[in-house]
Amino acid sequence: MIIAIDGPAGSGKSSTAKAVAAKLGITFLDTGAMYRAITLKAMRQNIPYTDDSALGRLVDGTVIAFEGSPPDVRVLMDGEDVSTLIRSDEVTKNVSDYCAIDVVREALVAQQRKIAAGLPVVCEGRDIGTVVFPGAEVKIFMSASVEERAKRRQKDFEAMGVTKSIQELMGDIEVRDEKDSTRSNSPLTKASDAIEMDTTGMTLDDQVSFIVEKYYSSSTLK
Ligand code: C5P
Repeated sequence: MIIAIDGPAGSGKSSTAKAVAAKLGITFLDTGAMYRAITLKAMRQNIPYTDDSALGRLVDGTVIAFEGSPPDVRVLMDGEDVSTLIRSDEVTKNVSDYCAIDVVREALVAQQRKIAAGLPVVCEGRDIGTVVFPGAEVKIFMSASVEERAKRRQKDFEAMGVTKSIQELMGDIEVRDEKDSTRSNSPLTKASDAIEMDTTGMTLDDQVSFIVEKYYSSSTLK
């Protein structure tokens, strides 16, 4: 049983997907964290996103794992806990370039399918309902206004002790949305059979209940 949640940056996917996984007691798979981990490693090794062959070697030689249960899931890259480092500004600004490269996507999509094989999973990202798990039983496409998404990001940064203006965050989100939606490989787009969910003004509880209800109604139909 797979719940696929896609949507642009800051639409509320991560917190909602984690809370849904915790409520249902099933696996949570944050695919954005995997692209962020590869970006961090490539940047540390000064490999530009234009160097396909070096990136192919890097991604094949990297082990990404998740530890813990939602909402407290840690991201391990080659055994190192990178949960905080992958959320840095530098990684956030560069991830959309690295993740657009075919060799990176092929390797990570294969890993995502392996992690989820045979398990009930809540998986969130940009191409989950369209490419990674097109047969997912529940597909949600989350959206929210750019202002709302920037406000949510501002709160996340505040929690990390970083102050950022709404204008700067809106600009960053718009650049990332544009790159994620216009790349040739697996662009961010709503699957034709996904349920659209505008989370502007919705509370986390409302979002979680909505998806859990879809999960139960899809299970009873089977
Ligand atoms: O969801 P999050 O903001 O952590 O994702 C970081 C970036 O990883 C996205 O902006 C997007 O470029 C990329 N990504 C992707 N496909 C996914 C998940 C994330 O291209 N399935």
